[in-house]
Amino acid sequence: MPATRADSGQGGLAALGPAELLHRLRARRASVEDSPITHVERVAARAGRTVPWPEWVPRPLREAYAFEPWEHQAAAASLAHAGQHVVLATGTASGKSLAYQMPALSRLLEDPRATVLYLSPTKALAADQLRAVARLGLDGVRPATYDGDTPREEREWIRQHSRFVLTNPDMLHHAMLPGHARWAPFLRRLAYVVIDECHTYRGVFGSHVSHVLRRLRRLAAQYGSSPTFVLASATSGDPQDAASRLTGLPVIAVTEDASPRGAVTFALWEPPLLPHEDPDLPPTRRSALSETADLLTDAVVAGTRTLAFVRSRRAAEVVATMTRRSLDEAVPGLGRRVAAYRAGYLREDRRAIERALMSGDLLALASTNALELGVDLVGLDAVLICGYPGTRASLWQQAGRAGRAGGEALAVLVARDDPLDTYLVHHPEALFGRPVEATVLDPANPYVLGPQLCCAAAEAPLRPADLEMFGGRAARDAVEGLTRTGGLRKRPTGWYWTHKGRPEVDLRGTGGAPVAVVESATGRLLGTVDQGSSHVMLHQGAVYLHQGASYVVDDLDLDDAVALVHAAEPDWSTHARDVTDLSVVSVREYVDAGPVGLFLGEVDVTNQVVSYQRRRIGTGEVIDTRPLDLPPRELRTVAVWFTVSPRALLAAGVEPPDVPGALHAAEHAAIGLLPLMATCDRWDIGGLSTANHADTQAPTVFVYDGHPGGAGFAERAYGTAAEWLRATREAIASCGCDAGCPSCVQSPKCGNGNNPLDKAKAVSVLDGVLAALPERTSADEPTAA
Ligand SMILES: [Zn+2]
Ligand SMILES: [Zn+2]
Repeated sequence: MPATRADSGQGGLAALGPAELLHRLRARRASVEDSPITHVERVAARAGRTVPWPEWVPRPLREAYAFEPWEHQAAAASLAHAGQHVVLATGTASGKSLAYQMPALSRLLEDPRATVLYLSPTKALAADQLRAVARLGLDGVRPATYDGDTPREEREWIRQHSRFVLTNPDMLHHAMLPGHARWAPFLRRLAYVVIDECHTYRGVFGSHVSHVLRRLRRLAAQYGSSPTFVLASATSGDPQDAASRLTGLPVIAVTEDASPRGAVTFALWEPPLLPHEDPDLPPTRRSALSETADLLTDAVVAGTRTLAFVRSRRAAEVVATMTRRSLDEAVPGLGRRVAAYRAGYLREDRRAIERALMSGDLLALASTNALELGVDLVGLDAVLICGYPGTRASLWQQAGRAGRAGGEALAVLVARDDPLDTYLVHHPEALFGRPVEATVLDPANPYVLGPQLCCAAAEAPLRPADLEMFGGRAARDAVEGLTRTGGLRKRPTGWYWTHKGRPEVDLRGTGGAPVAVVESATGRLLGTVDQGSSHVMLHQGAVYLHQGASYVVDDLDLDDAVALVHAAEPDWSTHARDVTDLSVVSVREYVDAGPVGLFLGEVDVTNQVVSYQRRRIGTGEVIDTRPLDLPPRELRTVAVWFTVSPRALLAAGVEPPDVPGALHAAEHAAIGLLPLMATCDRWDIGGLSTANHADTQAPTVFVYDGHPGGAGFAERAYGTAAEWLRATREAIASCGCDAGCPSCVQSPKCGNGNNPLDKAKAVSVLDGVLAALPERTSADEPTAA
């Protein structure tokens, strides 16, 4: 693209300051009393604090870097150098890699035999790190990536000669640990294990990885080493606890960020409620996409370089198209200055877009999160974030794209129709105060623990003393169970895996083989859906969206785990209806709070998708409801639940006929708000509410982990119940609708068609619960195994 600005049509307007830009964005759409801006936060600039190199860093390493470390880098590095396991949890671009490179590379320079293992969640990140370490040109380190793409002929050389091996947990699990004998020289001298982006190890996957790391520790110990663990994390609620659970070791957290940062003006923006054409239907908010497109249009007209983050490829195209259209109406030709950007673009295309943005040929981009990884964009004036991206780490990563060197920037979070977004735009302290969401994982999940113990036994017989590391009593119970069912065999020297081949354990497995989505006409594999979601998403007649294209399911074959689809664009969407049954198996912990009870325990959930509705796109009108013939699915998992006595409900103003709708509404919103406390998605959890449950004999709301054995989400909900339910109450109460809408109590995944729902009484129920519930519901547990 030529760097000409002759046809810019925007009169060479200089970029505005963030306050002036925000003023212009607001001026166009708010009526006087009804501003969409719910909060403006000024995040002050921060000067960086450097410190001299720690004494112990060898001269060649200092010279290779040619700059001084930030204070937090040196603090974490010195702890690691002293043999203390440490997690560094600071913001994006705060230079976390130096914190582990410093102790690890120092050790490699001083001890010519020592080795370092680096783990990253993605191959791309490992490749980046490899380049960074190789660029230092240190003698004898010989860094190398070891992953699925490493050619066979190079593997042997790496095992023998590399002293800085970069890999991922899957490779460690599938190849390195099972083949540990060939890695013996490397493991014997293992000095450091670096775990980068450790907050990505959460839920069931994180629970598996926690055991892979315990297996690594056990084998290293058998070869005679006990490496120091250095972890890098995005900022999160309790990085020390998460890192300790992940590694099973006592870990110290360094969280004070001393890197420099430009000032950001951060606005929270709630699109207005629109009256519905049909007065019987609830009001809906103006869509976040349309709102974002309007803001992007105004930003371009004002001459500012702006990036809009959206959640999907299709959304990126939609926002770019809408923006282009309205720009061309305002100033013909201006639409050309806007582009869509998404994952899957070739490197050359990405570079061309970067250059066009730098030169000013392009003024606006609508993009998916692809930009979070590996694209270099600087010099943006403003960032629009369409919908809360799920975690504060992502939010700050996206907002951090704005700001020219030393200059001020504007970031705007545009709320979607969702209870969590509603809560956040009305409770800025949850975004700008101390982070509360924690990375959650549960090493004690029996569905993870059992298979992982089999893997460990296949690598080297399990001795009784080993079981402490894998969770103590839970591990002993699991091993005994496996011995009874023939999984393991007990001999005087320990437990053995005596089967042919290795145990088949998929770290990312969520129960059963994923269902393949195949286009009948071409045989093309479009993608996969995990089995747990397949009944809801891929039942016969379901409309399935794949990368912006629409398909209809002809047949779901559960035995072969295949769904056959054909391309079609019907003008309806489909919504599965299901029936859920839940029974309590056991209670792990509870709080008796008079008329209110709070429980954590095991439950059996039986769920059957029984029919689906077809609804007209646009109006939401129900066309028909069609029956389905799918088997029930059973799930043994962990749930948190609360009960309220009927008398207390009455005292809170909830009459018996209103109880089902009130509990159901509270359940939906509570599920929507749980991601505030734990890094989960609302699709990771399920719920059930009932005016009288057979096992509790009381009005009850259950919220359960959607994965067999639980992933730690219900446990986190139990531990933070007062805070979680207060946020839930606030999200409902602060929504401006009358009787409930998707921003508060309606749920896109409700199996009952969002019926009954009573918004006002849900607030009353939660008031009653919160009045009785103590502030803290679980003692701080010891975290290291
Ligand atoms: Zn609402
Ligand atoms: Zn529901």
